[in-house]
Amino acid sequence: GPADLRCDLLVLGGGPGGYSAAFRAADLGLDVVLVERYPTLGGVCLNVGCIPSKALLHVAAVMEEARHLAQVGIAFDAPRIDVQALRAHKERVIGKLTGGLAAMAKMRNVRVVRGYGSFVDAHRVVVEETTGSGQDKTGAQTVVAFARCIIAAGSQAVRLPFLPDDPRIIDSTGALTLPAVPQRMLVIGGGIIGLEMATVYSALGARIDVVEMADGLMPGADRDLVKVWHKLNAPRFDRLMLRTRTVAADARADGIHVRFEGADGSRSDGVYDLVLQAVGRSPNGRKIGAERAGVALDERGFVPVDTQMRTNVGHIFAIGDIVGAPMLAHKAVHEGHVAAEVIAGELKGDEALARSGFIARVIPSVAYTDPEVAWVGLTEEQAKTQGVAVDKGLFPWSASGRAIANGCEQGFTKLLFDASTHRIVGGGIVGPNAGDMIGEIALAIEMGADAIDIGRTIHPHPTLGETIGLAAEAAHGHCTDLP
Ligand code: FAD
Repeated sequence: GPADLRCDLLVLGGGPGGYSAAFRAADLGLDVVLVERYPTLGGVCLNVGCIPSKALLHVAAVMEEARHLAQVGIAFDAPRIDVQALRAHKERVIGKLTGGLAAMAKMRNVRVVRGYGSFVDAHRVVVEETTGSGQDKTGAQTVVAFARCIIAAGSQAVRLPFLPDDPRIIDSTGALTLPAVPQRMLVIGGGIIGLEMATVYSALGARIDVVEMADGLMPGADRDLVKVWHKLNAPRFDRLMLRTRTVAADARADGIHVRFEGADGSRSDGVYDLVLQAVGRSPNGRKIGAERAGVALDERGFVPVDTQMRTNVGHIFAIGDIVGAPMLAHKAVHEGHVAAEVIAGELKGDEALARSGFIARVIPSVAYTDPEVAWVGLTEEQAKTQGVAVDKGLFPWSASGRAIANGCEQGFTKLLFDASTHRIVGGGIVGPNAGDMIGEIALAIEMGADAIDIGRTIHPHPTLGETIGLAAEAAHGHCTDLP
């Protein structure tokens, strides 16, 4: 059909999945169009996710450190908080990164088309030009014809239907804009995003309640890790309500009045200046006209794909949050590279490239809270339910010189080994910098390392990372048939 632009590859969505795919495809010689409705590239992650949250969490962690110093004889006055300056700092961090992405797109001759894209048919996307923050349409349209397409349209925060429309009820995007710091705040949802935001607002001085439907915080992580987090964070929060549903909310002049119902039928309530809903994210699959391209969606709006990231339509691929859990930037990036390589391989006749696939054994998860909680591969809970016998190597940080010196001896490092092959199958860390250390465990799993490989790898002393080697040594005893 008629088109204003033609390309080898159209990438729909400029988040970490989309820009990674576009850049890799351009590097492999393809002519690429990248469609993004917002004025900047980077998607949720750079603009309203990973990066702004970490900029604020860093500040929160430093403030907490400074407070701890009082116990070792170094006392500071109470912090004077200039929210506007903090907001500007966060915006500068984002600006550096999105500016860098724009430059990288230009350098590679990736054509960025600004607007809201949806399929016309299986070979064309219509882009309705957007202005401002991305919500308004100018009426101008560009039709882009493509040989191949990668859908990277991401996800959005789930809204609880019974919450009233009120500026005091926000999602993570709203929370990251740092409206004035509330005195009393409710965080609905005890997952990673909710707890990260709770950590930021608590550092800034808010009193916080957290309400979670499940029987524990940070679903997916082993309970022993979460228990340490829970214990260290209990003083920070007024109420950590588990097995509790938020059932109603009423916006009044003196605050948002919220009612809770426990799994045991108990009722309670609270009044808040700010309510953050962090109850999960849903894919944008239903908003891109997928049906006009013949692309199938599952009942929740995710786009099913194979290990090459191909949808049911052979020349259309999908990556990132829109294809399913875990909804993480590092997963989106790797999937983006795979899709770009397969497509470049097919279009350029490079069979080796065309065989690329998403074959990661494990994807690490990190809560960048205080302390951090990180885990990768099998958890103890999963090993149990899957009937996998594991040997555990545990190293409590109370035996780490560095942890004691740093005042974080409540943390620990745990490794899990398959009891029959002795290879590492999972691991978890709770403590400062856990997220920076979990990559080593992911590498060990990908490489098929066993406890001796890890235990005999000389780690620098004294470091927190050393606890990974020591946890492996702790597991040696169980691996008596190793040389
Ligand atoms: P997205 O980042 O959602 O990007 C999709 C892009 O497509 C968006 O820019 C959107 O505007 C655009 N788009 C959608 N539809 C259209 C359309 N029809 N036309 C044009 N453009 C369109 N992950 C981590 O790994 N680490 C973290 O620390 C982390 N922290 C997070 C903190 C918060 C508060 C949140 C909300 C998320 C966090 N995540 C984190 C998750 C991470 O942001 C996502 O997994 C990641 O952004 C997914 O990338 P993506 O490319 O699939 O989609």
